[in-house]
Amino acid sequence: MRRRTGSSALGLAACVAIAALLPGAALACEARHRTLELDPGQNVGGSTAGYAALDLRDREVVLTFDDGPNPETTPRILDMLSKACVPATFFVLGEPAETYPLLVQRALADGHAVGGHTRSHTDLAEAPFSEATRDITSGFLPVAAAGAESNLFRFPQLSGTPQLLDWLREHGMAAVSADIDPRDWEGQAPAVTLARLKRQIREKGRGIIILHDDQLATVQLLPDLLAFLRSEGYSVVRLVGAPAHRQLASGETR
Ligand SMILES: [Zn+2]
Repeated sequence: MRRRTGSSALGLAACVAIAALLPGAALACEARHRTLELDPGQNVGGSTAGYAALDLRDREVVLTFDDGPNPETTPRILDMLSKACVPATFFVLGEPAETYPLLVQRALADGHAVGGHTRSHTDLAEAPFSEATRDITSGFLPVAAAGAESNLFRFPQLSGTPQLLDWLREHGMAAVSADIDPRDWEGQAPAVTLARLKRQIREKGRGIIILHDDQLATVQLLPDLLAFLRSEGYSVVRLVGAPAHRQLASGETR
């Protein structure tokens, strides 16, 4: 059952229909993939308290990219995803999203989902509560300005608190953690990250993959990752916010 909560600053800031932005090619590509919608408070991925496993079938994965958009690397990742007809969810940072709004708009137009990832990328578990919520909210402003409806949020460094999870739920949001994390930001060679990915994917058989679209090494390994998923019979699932959340855009309460 879908939860419908009261209107919020985040709801006002973060909701415009994605579907209306999709051109025909993206829609045709989208139809080839299963879509999972997250309700407010439905926190998924990882094994930490407050998160549940996403309802994925065997050999289904979700592809997520954090910390963009980046003018050098994000377009190359979008090109590869389009060519392969693979959907992803981008958790963008407020500052580059504000600087490069066309890249956020392109991700949406290509049929991907976009979520918030704060403005400053500080560890919110270490920040004062009011500062943390302000950082979350301001991180969504350029997301909404670029035309993204989204109630999806990812904590920087996957680091949150039960109090912040409660606050997100009260404001109609869902937190997305990750199950498969090759730590692609550590500076290792692409082949090392790819080997980590393959091992974790084979071990778990399903899950949410976290990568970073501001990393050149991730651009370099992505074709091999997509080929691996294809050859091993994996499907990539679209992860989006629940349509019910659109109600919050107009301030409707139930
Ligand atoms: Zn991040």
